[in-house]
Amino acid sequence: MKKIAVLTSGGDAPGMNAAIRSVVRKALFEGLEVSGVFNGYQGLIEGKIEQFQLGSVGDIIQRGGTILRSARCPEFMTEDGRAKAMEQIKLHAIEGLVVIGGDGSFKGANELVKLGVPCACVPATIDNDITGTEFTIGFDTALNTVVDVIDKIRDTATSHERSFIVEVMGRDAGDLALWAGLGGGAESIILPEKPFNVDAIVNRLKSSTSRGKKHSIIVLAEGMMSATQLAEILKKEAGIETRVSILGHMQRGGSPSARDRVIASQYGARAVETLLSGKKSSAVGMRNHKVVDYNLEEVFTKREKLDLSLVDLAETLSI
Ligand code: ADP
Repeated sequence: MKKIAVLTSGGDAPGMNAAIRSVVRKALFEGLEVSGVFNGYQGLIEGKIEQFQLGSVGDIIQRGGTILRSARCPEFMTEDGRAKAMEQIKLHAIEGLVVIGGDGSFKGANELVKLGVPCACVPATIDNDITGTEFTIGFDTALNTVVDVIDKIRDTATSHERSFIVEVMGRDAGDLALWAGLGGGAESIILPEKPFNVDAIVNRLKSSTSRGKKHSIIVLAEGMMSATQLAEILKKEAGIETRVSILGHMQRGGSPSARDRVIASQYGARAVETLLSGKKSSAVGMRNHKVVDYNLEEVFTKREKLDLSLVDLAETLSI
């Protein structure tokens, strides 16, 4: 193998730059040529491909977003689109591709594997929803952002003796809400993975008020319902007034945490190693504090369950 390329795709996540840096430097260290593909699969189709040197990825480890930019590319979902991408791959003599992104981007990589392009996928999404790895790049940074916001909301919630609903990202996954709720000391955490029980939430709010608690924080995963909907339900069912805070895209931004930079560096280098070792279709990740690589197929065929014991713990601690 003489030349590989790297792209970022799908929703951006803090730490993608650290992963790009790691892929590029590890590849150069191993004597490979390495190119950056701009704008995800769209850039692959359009040939937005540039040869990188050591300096191409200087001063980016601390930056949020992705210098390669990211895109959603419907054209790549078609055979024609992928055929155009294959022309560029051949033109640039790319023999292996590192795809940094979420599970949609991994599906795209899987299509390239079928066309004979070896791919190594690096999980990067604040949702932490990729099967086979305990942590994705960006999750830790987003978690710290959300906990920081909860701390701030708690100040005003206490001053005004108010209950707040904090809506956090995570399409179908409650990881961010769960970890942020636990880390932020929320009274209730509402997740898509757990049946919604309005009575339980109302009882918790009432019992904490009756023992003189000045505020309540409810953390809600967006995949469950919207914060506005929940506020309406609580008002209608129990006459409870809440304030709503929807965190939105700020959760995807900012400088990556030290932890995200470290795992991004580990994952990026491992992705290059898996390509060099001849693996045609792999994903990298973390299991029991160890960096691993595994067959990409696993990401699509297995579904991992959230550790709901953390929900029980959060409820135990916020009685
Ligand atoms: P994420 O990677 O964050 O989950 P998306 O689901 O939007 O983001 O996927 C990113 C891109 O990956 C899509 O815009 C598309 O170009 C490509 N992609 C997603 N699913 C497929 C698929 N089944 N086949 C081919 N390409 C896909």
